[in-house]
Amino acid sequence: MPVLVGASEGEREFAGTRQLASVVRSLREEFDFPIFLNADHTHSLAKALEAVKAGFDSVVFDLSALPLAENARSTRQAVEELKSINPTVVVEGEIGDIGSGSEIHADGPSPDHTLTSPEEACQFVVETKVDVLAPAVGNSHGMRESMVTGKKRKHLAIERIREIKSATCVPMTLHGGSGTEDEDLKQAIRAGINIVHINTEPEVILPLVGAQDLLAQPD
Ligand SMILES: [Zn+2]
Repeated sequence: MPVLVGASEGEREFAGTRQLASVVRSLREEFDFPIFLNADHTHSLAKALEAVKAGFDSVVFDLSALPLAENARSTRQAVEELKSINPTVVVEGEIGDIGSGSEIHADGPSPDHTLTSPEEACQFVVETKVDVLAPAVGNSHGMRESMVTGKKRKHLAIERIREIKSATCVPMTLHGGSGTEDEDLKQAIRAGINIVHINTEPEVILPLVGAQDLLAQPD
């Protein structure tokens, strides 16, 4: 199976952008299956350029916190500059609010994440020429405490995914896939999602944050 290795801005800061690229290059020499390296959530052109120059194959250029027009303008500039360094680099753009942080969030009222509309998705893809789109379709980064125990699951706007896909016709990434109902994930993929990010499932992150006791709570 091909493997996609991802490193966020913070992880690149910690391990070294060029050092991570070197590790992946050495793995490529050792194994005879494709291994790709993705720069996850990159919030500035400087950091995106650094990753592409180091040899990353793809960049998630995330200015989704900015107003749409400003996000589109800067993402377009990033696509041009990054592809001038490596024409085959894959650039992903992000619109809509899906929260931030692959953490376990305390339970409480659900944040009001507006769904990406097919019209704005189409406008964004046409203006920026991104290769991949990350929309807000009911997904959110991290997990609630009640999702760790499986009492609650995330649900996705499947019909909206279908509409965005037919409006844009580009590959799409679902960020914040952790804690999503299995059936929703399957339907999302059928409706047009091509890549799913899962980073906060109990087996992945709880040992890292020392929160194993959450799993031991009675129902
Ligand atoms: Zn993400």
